[in-house]
Amino acid sequence: MSSNYTTIKSLSENTGKQVTLAGWLYNSRASGKIQFLIIRDGTGLCQCIVEKGNVPDEIFEQLKHIGQESSLTVTGTIRAEPRSVGGYEMAVTDAKIISVSEGYPITPKSHGIDFLLKNRHLHLRSHLQWCILKIRHTVIDAVRRFFNDNGFTLIDTPIITSIAGEEEQSLFEVDYFGTPLHLTQTGQLHLESAAMSCGKVYCFGPTFRAEKSKTRRHLTEFWMVEPEVAFIELPGLLELAENFVSSIVSRVLSDNRAELEALGANIEALEKITPPFYRLTYTDCVNILTSDKTKDFLVNQLQEFLEEKKQIETRITELESQDTGKLKQWQKDKNAAELIELRSTLAETEIKIENNPRHAQLAAAFKWGKDLGGSDETIISLMHDKPIFVTHYPKQAKAFYMKTDRENEDVVLNFDMLAPAGFGEIIGGSIREDDYDRLVSRINKQGLKPENYEWYLDLRKYGSVPHGGFGLGIERTVAWLTDQKHIRQCIPFPRMMDKVYI
Ligand code: ATP
Ligand code: MN
Repeated sequence: MSSNYTTIKSLSENTGKQVTLAGWLYNSRASGKIQFLIIRDGTGLCQCIVEKGNVPDEIFEQLKHIGQESSLTVTGTIRAEPRSVGGYEMAVTDAKIISVSEGYPITPKSHGIDFLLKNRHLHLRSHLQWCILKIRHTVIDAVRRFFNDNGFTLIDTPIITSIAGEEEQSLFEVDYFGTPLHLTQTGQLHLESAAMSCGKVYCFGPTFRAEKSKTRRHLTEFWMVEPEVAFIELPGLLELAENFVSSIVSRVLSDNRAELEALGANIEALEKITPPFYRLTYTDCVNILTSDKTKDFLVNQLQEFLEEKKQIETRITELESQDTGKLKQWQKDKNAAELIELRSTLAETEIKIENNPRHAQLAAAFKWGKDLGGSDETIISLMHDKPIFVTHYPKQAKAFYMKTDRENEDVVLNFDMLAPAGFGEIIGGSIREDDYDRLVSRINKQGLKPENYEWYLDLRKYGSVPHGGFGLGIERTVAWLTDQKHIRQCIPFPRMMDKVYI
């Protein structure tokens, strides 16, 4: 497989040489006898300089008039230019227009999120979206590498299933030749049976949950990777999870540093993500949430939000009161983009200010036994600079398959992993109940029908062993690494309760 074109990614090997790039016009600017074209080719961006006299006159004129996203080839000599995007530049000697694009809807100005989602098929070409696609690719490759290199066997679990692994309210129904079946919410139950064959296994696929809430952390279709291991206890499972997540972070840091920088991700913080992670029990978390320390922490946070709000408002007033008559067009565009950005940050800050007292109240009144809510997780997560394991949740708050702690029958041997700095949960996992009678009684207590779980119960009849596993959500992981507020930016074509655009 080869093409006659040089890729932008490989320009470092081509300095001083004459090459041809094939791509799309990302942006352009002309001033008299010189044009600056930013070309993207799928592997990166390159500034191409077209000087009158260095290219045929007719080409110079054509290039001046083609719109954003026109496809073309450009030929010229490459030189290193640290100040240019990507670090290289082309002095163009020839060009060929392949297809002219006019009136491309997504301009370098900022657009609202609704507009961008409706134009997702085009928005994917924008540099920041491209950066996220590249990072998502690395995350998925790192996931597969980690398990494949550590003796795990890939098991493809079914997408159409007859039993629920999570809350039944979030099942999507499929009419299966007249019988109602469901889209999978997790591969775990099937994976457990494969773990009894291969020992260490994982599944990796699309996962469906009819999430009726519209949060920044929930999609109705997302990708989850789930390892499952025979003969493992909770400490071993936590070690597996921290090594796994650390390996993903270090791969992204080494393969996608430029993309992380472009996205404004916190690289320094990511460099700290090495084992061991923090370990807290659920009960520790309840004590933290109801402590004076947390009360003070939230009061300080409110002050910070109010300060942030003041700063944003000052800048908005400053931009709005500028005399636009004197500004060049590009400066007007830049200001317009900044204003859109500022207004959206302001709206978010105002929501945080509004939520703060409610979150403080929820935390202070937290009662042992309840599941940790999103705001509780956020508080714990904000207090840490590395991921946190929260273990040993109350039995009543958790799924039927989680193993009861034999030393404290009120809790289960489970964990959530919270990403730091306020991001929140990226993994949920547990040791599974391996005792037949206890499992039947949990199934009954939760109002489920044991006859639906016969095959699952068989695993506890024929050579039951301690085992466990977890599920990591790809979109949440990518959103954490790339510092995206909403996970909808971290899957090429997001599906949400109220929105399926394309
Ligand atoms: P939450 O409490 O945040 O809804 P959960 O407890 O339902 O999460 P698990 O069932 O433990 O999550 O699923 C494992 C992982 O799958 C989660 O940690 C998360 O990374 C991811 N995940 C779960 N639900 C969604 C969703 N609706 N959209 C995207 N990712 C999800
Ligand atoms: Mn959920």
